[in-house]
Amino acid sequence: PMIEFGLQTKGSYEHMQEAKKYLPGGVTANIKHFAPYPVVMDKGKGAWLKDVDGHWYVDYLMGYGSLALGHGHSKIKEAVYDQLMDDGTCLFGTPHKLETAFAKKIMSYYPSIEKVRYTNSGTEATQLAIRLAQVFTGKKRIAKFEGHYHGGYKEMLYSINPPVSEAGLEEAPSPVPESAGVDVDGQEPYILPFNHLKGMEKLLKNHHKELAAVLIEPVQSGFIPADQVFMDRLRELTKKYGVILIYDEVKTGFRSALGGGQEKYQVKPDLTTLGKVIGGGFPIGVVGGRSDILDVSSPDRGADVFEAGAQGKASAKEVLFHSGTYNGHPTILAAGLATISVLEEGYNDVLSFTNELRKGIEEIGRKAGFPLKTCGVGSIFNVIWNQDTLPRHYRDLQKTNTKMRKELDFKLLQSGLYTKPLNRYSISAAHGEEELEFTLKAYEKACESLKGG
Ligand code: PMP
Repeated sequence: PMIEFGLQTKGSYEHMQEAKKYLPGGVTANIKHFAPYPVVMDKGKGAWLKDVDGHWYVDYLMGYGSLALGHGHSKIKEAVYDQLMDDGTCLFGTPHKLETAFAKKIMSYYPSIEKVRYTNSGTEATQLAIRLAQVFTGKKRIAKFEGHYHGGYKEMLYSINPPVSEAGLEEAPSPVPESAGVDVDGQEPYILPFNHLKGMEKLLKNHHKELAAVLIEPVQSGFIPADQVFMDRLRELTKKYGVILIYDEVKTGFRSALGGGQEKYQVKPDLTTLGKVIGGGFPIGVVGGRSDILDVSSPDRGADVFEAGAQGKASAKEVLFHSGTYNGHPTILAAGLATISVLEEGYNDVLSFTNELRKGIEEIGRKAGFPLKTCGVGSIFNVIWNQDTLPRHYRDLQKTNTKMRKELDFKLLQSGLYTKPLNRYSISAAHGEEELEFTLKAYEKACESLKGG
């Protein structure tokens, strides 16, 4: 398939050669890269993406899950236009009404959230959630689960996709750094085993005195669900031990369910992080949760760093300073509110499309004699090339046949479906009948061609 890929994507190849002169590896984020070179896109419309060679693809990457309504939805355009044109460009640098309206909207779906802070990305949101937990508990260490991603910064760049040979025991994984420059002076996160009840219990029991927080993606990468008993037990133990439970719902928010993983499991975490969908395709992050924890950052309590020495108040050291020029950006909040109000009407259709597509893919796989299964929750799923059961955690994923899945992905690319190789599928409200039919035909063609070798 590589020769055909090369013929189809000549313009992408040429652009990447040029881009490499100016950007490390030709990309602006490491995840945008894949071998032999990424497809360079030019335009998005509804559920479709057009590459620089003029080919159209049904887009299943959807901005890594961010675009719940597809590309260029009219309601988002209107909301952004109104905010820019009628309400004074984009940035006041003062409190404004959308900040509260947006918070109320989020809280209507996430009852565990009593107060929020806005950030500019999911990465910043999990960083802030960790700092809040540390200040609130007076403890330092953090635990995360093997295979879970929480953003690109040093404390969290451990054990996301480590080689199993380095990752230690399944029930007690070792922290494996996965980037240069993540030396954290012996303060690396404890790594918990996802969906392994005994292992999780034991690690929490042994380390809770040092632990400020446990971070978890309630559905790993948006497509591997946790067991209900596992989530119930994690809630119970973190409460008992005084460890802050952080649900990182940057990916699962408004996707696993409108109310995210916490709606699915009916669990109330102490803190929640959100991002992606809620920005309508623009950069955003949210930390929400218990008032008593969020209020650690409240300037009502005392002076901030720019106001040090204010009389009769807590000192700057006692208030968690969190800031950002663009926090609560009005244009982005307007886009996000528009997104949520369209999505709440259309979410059931998104789920129906997802189910039809998953059934169709499995059926085509069966007919072709390939062990294709789909695994997912809500509007995200992944295609697993496996012989037996669905993955329950990161180590199971490593046993799937990624070589065949990649070959399939390159065939699909040539038939007009876009996701990054091995990536999950995110469905949007713009995916409809036409896209379903087109996608299943592409699958039939790709499977036929794979059978032929
Ligand atoms: N947490 C999770 C669960 C994510 O999926 C991501 C992004 N893939 C992040 C955090 C980081 O968000 P951002 O890319 O907006 O910084």
